[in-house]
Amino acid sequence: MPTGDAAYIRKLNRSLIISKIVEAGIISRAELSKITTLTKATISVQIASLIDEDIIIETQQDHSKVGRKPIMLSLNGAAGYALGIDLDYSQISFTLSNLLGHPVSSDTIKIHTTSYSDIFDILVEKINKYKNECLKSRYGLIGVAISIHGLVSTDELIHYIPRLNWYDVDLKHDLEKELNVNVYLENNANLSAFAERSYTYHKSDNLVCITLRSGIGLGILINNKLSKGHDGYAGEIGHMIIQPGGDLCACGNKGCWERYASESIFLKQLSKEKQVSNITYKHIEEWLNQNDTELHRQMENFLYYISIGLNNIINIYNPEVLIIDSELLSLYPDSINEIKKNLSSSTIHYRELLISSIGEKACELGACALVIKNFLEITMPNFVYPESIEDINSLNNMSVKKL
Ligand SMILES: [Zn+2]
Repeated sequence: MPTGDAAYIRKLNRSLIISKIVEAGIISRAELSKITTLTKATISVQIASLIDEDIIIETQQDHSKVGRKPIMLSLNGAAGYALGIDLDYSQISFTLSNLLGHPVSSDTIKIHTTSYSDIFDILVEKINKYKNECLKSRYGLIGVAISIHGLVSTDELIHYIPRLNWYDVDLKHDLEKELNVNVYLENNANLSAFAERSYTYHKSDNLVCITLRSGIGLGILINNKLSKGHDGYAGEIGHMIIQPGGDLCACGNKGCWERYASESIFLKQLSKEKQVSNITYKHIEEWLNQNDTELHRQMENFLYYISIGLNNIINIYNPEVLIIDSELLSLYPDSINEIKKNLSSSTIHYRELLISSIGEKACELGACALVIKNFLEITMPNFVYPESIEDINSLNNMSVKKL
């Protein structure tokens, strides 16, 4: 590592300064010098250059006390925009965020094809539309990250997407060639874990995120880095065998965890028992209100199987924070405590087990955060998660008056 190199040190300092400004939201030069332990002169030179680049803006706090209002610094949210895309089966969702990680627009389109060339054309058209919307800002569309529900290699090649039946396609290269914009590909559970860390659990260096949707995925963040295994395929936890000789899975094995603990399997099973086709979360809510015995019986079974997988994950990783992204668990009262009761082995250690507060938008927001991290060249962004549109508006107006 060229630690003595002045340009390298300048780059490290720049990254540290930007990280602290993002983390604080709004901060003075003096405070910045204090928390980074960099000299006031270094801060001053770096900030002048970041202001010149439009990355940082000087602002004044409206609510400061009588007297001279301090000049504060904040990230210039409008300097550029990141596009996060969730490429799911039958639909594609888009979220555009500003440089502060706040969503400014989003859209979901239904797709009725699994063809690579058809989906590629749809992506090109939509990304071009978003790119044009950002033209007025200094850096425009700074990049696109796409959440892939399948295996993505460490060099961002799509190895396999089961539900689209895609094998070994170079979507990143094809899109970059067509659009002239940076494109990043990442597994959906990895992006969910990245979103949880960037938006919610800023203090955790050891976090795992389990996504229970049509399949089950696991995103692993250790020391603020995604742990992806040798080829990039780690976290295919849905295919951990929990029932030898059990139900046949699409992967070719029998008894995989996702055959017992994914939401799609739960809904299928409940549909059979209740003899109601196309069960939705609305049905679940209604049956919960009616205290339906069959629903409770099925849920208990579901929670039991979830606990088996979690038991294994905790034993392997000893994580600080485990986050479960599941709409069903968020609907079912006390689901987390029910699971905790099953996690009673004396070898099990973790600090927190929680349901995701971000939910299904997690992989799109994680995608935006990844693009911004790469653009700003920082290790991990610490954003504020906006709960509502009002929150977004107030956060975007936080940097009050530009001087
Ligand atoms: Zn399997």
